[in-house]
Amino acid sequence: MTDRSLTDRSVKPNPGTPNPGRIQSKHIILTSHQNKGSSQVIPIQWGAADPRDRGPVIGSLHSARHRNVIGTHAGSYGVYRALAVASGVLDPSHKADLTNTSPIVHIGPHPSWADPSKIVSLDPFGAIASNAFGDHYPTDHEILPTIAITKAHIYIPELKTEIDQGRLQVDGKILKADGNLVVTKAAIDPVWYLPGIAKRLGIDEWDLRRVLFQQTGGMFPELVTRPDLHVFLPPIGGTTVYIVGDVDAITDPNKPVAVRVHDECNGSDVFGSDICTCRPYLVHGIEVCIQTAQAGGAGVIVYCRKEGRALGEVTKFLVYNARKRQEGGDRADAYFLRTECVAGVQDMRFQELMPDVLHWLGITRIDQLVSMSNMKYNAITHAGIEVVQRVAIPPELIPADAQVEIEAKKASGYYSENEVMTEEELAEIKGREY
Ligand SMILES: [Zn+2]
Repeated sequence: MTDRSLTDRSVKPNPGTPNPGRIQSKHIILTSHQNKGSSQVIPIQWGAADPRDRGPVIGSLHSARHRNVIGTHAGSYGVYRALAVASGVLDPSHKADLTNTSPIVHIGPHPSWADPSKIVSLDPFGAIASNAFGDHYPTDHEILPTIAITKAHIYIPELKTEIDQGRLQVDGKILKADGNLVVTKAAIDPVWYLPGIAKRLGIDEWDLRRVLFQQTGGMFPELVTRPDLHVFLPPIGGTTVYIVGDVDAITDPNKPVAVRVHDECNGSDVFGSDICTCRPYLVHGIEVCIQTAQAGGAGVIVYCRKEGRALGEVTKFLVYNARKRQEGGDRADAYFLRTECVAGVQDMRFQELMPDVLHWLGITRIDQLVSMSNMKYNAITHAGIEVVQRVAIPPELIPADAQVEIEAKKASGYYSENEVMTEEELAEIKGREY
């Protein structure tokens, strides 16, 4: 492509789309080495209690000379932003107008925010970035939030059914008579402090940086060329937190806290597939959260974008087919094996990083953990958070085709109040055939 064609593209956006005036400059600045203005980079003192000592996360491309991280904002959506700029619908010089966007409900700061080992995969100051740092730096340091906190009414049909059945009580404030549930919710983009991530996983930071570089097809050269940059904004999905009840109750030692940490399962969560227990267990988690909030405490749902155990949905559907077509049919005793055949591993969620969001919320004790996962339980308790009680999914909520999943998980070490099946019994638990 010649320079001329690029110039032409810039003045002829698609018909019907707004013309932002120009597209990204053709001048390419390699980010792999420090440029002349690098002395202006504000160092990030990860774990400092005062945000001004900690320093802002500057990942904006408008602040090229001030960027102090690897990667850019919005996780995987940064790629769509590039498409929007490339196709002429987004002016690359557009700066976010953050008027009235600050948190509706305040969270923190908590003591855990000042512990560089407790939070390594999100920026605890991410929701208050523009307030905490905005006045202290010139406007050419574009400091963007990585966390947004708002409120909502949510409607889940199962909750209305539970009200009608008398399983849930309407209180008019938290749970409305029409089934609407009042929540506070927070969206969190990942912000990785690489030395902390490496330490958490028990690996060398430079091995981590090299492999991240290699396994993303060389996407972020700074991982291996910029040892002065320790923070990475990875192009992955983030986390959403739903809080039921009084947010302040989360850190009140005299009030109960219920938590469900739920990893995304689009097929069940949204579309109601009956091959797994995800949506029914999520709804049960919300039910326990409502009851805890109604008892004066708070309930927390942490929803992590880690589809198919972070193997992705394509892998997940391939595994479904392999399970259903294998000799002897879909059996609980071969549940994990089929995943390993396709993906090479059973799971890539790295629950070791998951408790960060609980520390961000200031949680030190969970009265009811609505999860049977030993991986989640171990991660939470290893992070120093006390778990008083684990809550299994009630048997009547397990969907028709999900016995294979639940028995296989229980046999692999998931929490259960009942006896775990033997190998022979597991082989007898079979799912539907395609
Ligand atoms: Zn599922």
